[in-house]
Amino acid sequence: MYVILLGLPGAGKGTQAAHLTKTTGLAHVTTGELFRENIRLGSELGKKAQPYVEQGLLVPDELTIGMLLERISQPDCAAGCMLDGFPRNLDQARALDEALARGGRTIDRAVYIKVPTDELVRRLAGRWNCPKCGAVYHERDRPPKSPGICDNCGAELYQREDDRSEVVRTRLEVNLAQVEPLLEHYRQKGKLVEIEGAGEVDAVGEELTAILASS
Ligand code: AMP
Repeated sequence: MYVILLGLPGAGKGTQAAHLTKTTGLAHVTTGELFRENIRLGSELGKKAQPYVEQGLLVPDELTIGMLLERISQPDCAAGCMLDGFPRNLDQARALDEALARGGRTIDRAVYIKVPTDELVRRLAGRWNCPKCGAVYHERDRPPKSPGICDNCGAELYQREDDRSEVVRTRLEVNLAQVEPLLEHYRQKGKLVEIEGAGEVDAVGEELTAILASS
């Protein structure tokens, strides 16, 4: 099963994907994390992507699409995966459709998690991430049991540079401009489901689980 989680930064894609990975066994593929890993490692791809990521701009498609297609060709994605942060524009969506079609596969569901912009800004400003297992916390809504330490794996949590500054506004604007055509793409294919993501994490998770169970 190939599932796409769509939503603006802070909508809860990563949090929900981390949970769904456990319940469905599907691999969690997140382009933002792939870029951050490449930047940490200082790879060629990381060096090219870094200025875009730091400014909250989309990394050019010629880098992003290749990286994503390589990732989903790995054995852990053979039976499907959950995509978080990709596609971010129509060209990426079409490249994904074509790559899957070449293997006789298709997207099963695209779920758009809707959250008002004010709430997104609040969430991003209080967000803490685990560099090791990808768990996401919020200093008020979902604090870790010990401050600064991941409940799951004990790693030291960090705040993303691009969650902290005026880059947040750019990221929201850039993603907002791209989202409607993407939604229309999956709507026309009959794959789109839209859910309200401003509620409790667990309630959103239950709704998502039910959607995937019936897909
Ligand atoms: P995210 O963790 O999804 O918020 O992504 C962090 C940053 O990685 C974004 O602000 C972009 O610079 C870059 N990025 C992630 N996914 C994509 C994508 N599908 N296309 C282009 N850039 C991306």
